[in-house]
Amino acid sequence: MKRCRKCGLPEGVSAVFGCFDAPRWMLVGQAPGKKEVALGRPFAGAAGRRLFQWLTEAGFEEQQFRSFCYVTAMMKCFPGSGERGDLKPNRQQVANCAPWLEQELASVRPEVLIPVGQLAIERFLGKARLGELIGRRFRHSISGRAVTLIPLPHPSGASAWTNAPENRKLIRRAIRLLAEAASGR
Ligand code: SF4
Repeated sequence: MKRCRKCGLPEGVSAVFGCFDAPRWMLVGQAPGKKEVALGRPFAGAAGRRLFQWLTEAGFEEQQFRSFCYVTAMMKCFPGSGERGDLKPNRQQVANCAPWLEQELASVRPEVLIPVGQLAIERFLGKARLGELIGRRFRHSISGRAVTLIPLPHPSGASAWTNAPENRKLIRRAIRLLAEAASGR
């Protein structure tokens, strides 16, 4: 993935993904941002701070979580910035990166998969309103293995859905489900 140039991105832009030391869970976000590229670690910026705040509430400490959960994204490379912040991966970029995601799924074979944000949620659970999916747990078969899916909204400060007070209850419920999944319930 580090050597992949399929999207024709500027020189120096390369894939960002987490550790690969026998993970049992997998988290799939949207795409890395500048901070993630600089540190070579997914969810290392402001959105990551909020994500790990949620995970702390679910009982996970960041380092511990990263050690058993492989963290990746729908698009592994930074798609660039626009006037309104980081760009969202386009359809072609997501399609270019899809075979990598398939290989990651086949290699990790996660017990629990956390799609984060609309793009990843759509990939695993299809198109639906976030309000119908967040706070729920799903069972799917991925690469011939039963997987528990617990979707989370995008933790970015720019996400209107995540910031809306009426959605806090659903996010709390999703956090509870993550804690239950960790304890095998
Ligand atoms: S985003 Fe994915 S497909 Fe595109 S260059 Fe990076 S690794 Fe390759």
